[in-house]
Amino acid sequence: QDASFDVYCRMVPQSRVMLVSFQDVTHLEQAGQMRRDFVANVSHELRTPLTALIGFIETLRGAASDDAAARDRFLAIMQDEAGRMNRLVGDLLSLSRVEGEERVRPREEVDLSGQLGSVLNSLRPLAEEAGVAFWFDKPEAAVIIPGDADQLRQVFTNLIENAIKYGGSGGAVNVIVTVSERDPALRAPAVRVQVIDRGPGIDPMHLPRLTERFYRADSHRSRQLGGTGLGLAIVKHIVNRHRGRLRVESTLGEGATFTVILPSAGASG
Ligand code: ADP
Repeated sequence: QDASFDVYCRMVPQSRVMLVSFQDVTHLEQAGQMRRDFVANVSHELRTPLTALIGFIETLRGAASDDAAARDRFLAIMQDEAGRMNRLVGDLLSLSRVEGEERVRPREEVDLSGQLGSVLNSLRPLAEEAGVAFWFDKPEAAVIIPGDADQLRQVFTNLIENAIKYGGSGGAVNVIVTVSERDPALRAPAVRVQVIDRGPGIDPMHLPRLTERFYRADSHRSRQLGGTGLGLAIVKHIVNRHRGRLRVESTLGEGATFTVILPSAGASG
């Protein structure tokens, strides 16, 4: 019903026969539409802070030029807005890089528990500021998997940062690593990393679209917290590149669990 076709007609020479062929171009149209939506979204996301910056510059040069207190306040807002643009451009670059590399299988040996420990350490100041405690359960032996160390670091940073940001103050974030000889989801040896928070959770109606670029379950809160709406899209592409799976489970009012399942075969250790 919603399909699109290109139609080609050609007469067979020296006959009265006409050949008519149909080519299904639905997927091309959908890809074109997705590209247009993406460009419109990026433009909108960039324009919002840019408009604020232009407005504040005009005010600083005009009415507020002699008011030192107003100048300081406006400069602080401008710094926030410029930071927002910077994060957005950084995430767009990451997204385009991981999309470009998705077909190339990563082969570094990554010490997963070590990697997670270091991500938790670097996020500790953010957690302390939000009044959030970490619990980290991992196997005693090192967990080594084939992967791209920098990209896996980005996956865990994005998920744990979200758990801190959205999980609510005074809460706890649990990170659990489990190793399995035969994971039911991958039907192969795998490692599961769960990031669990006890915050407000996500309405189940949002779950299927959560990893789309710029999709936000709670748009107001995401913007207030400086989110770009690209974190989970980046996570999804990196997990795909590792031939893994990303799962999200949530019950409203009871928090959210993000599970990354990564194949562990091929690693020594
Ligand atoms: P953002 O930059 O907005 O955080 P993400 O792609 O990382 O973008 O996440 C998409 C949306 O998913 C967020 O805007 C937020 O609404 C929701 N979300 C992600 N993680 C959580 C979580 N742990 N608890 C509640 N909502 C979450």
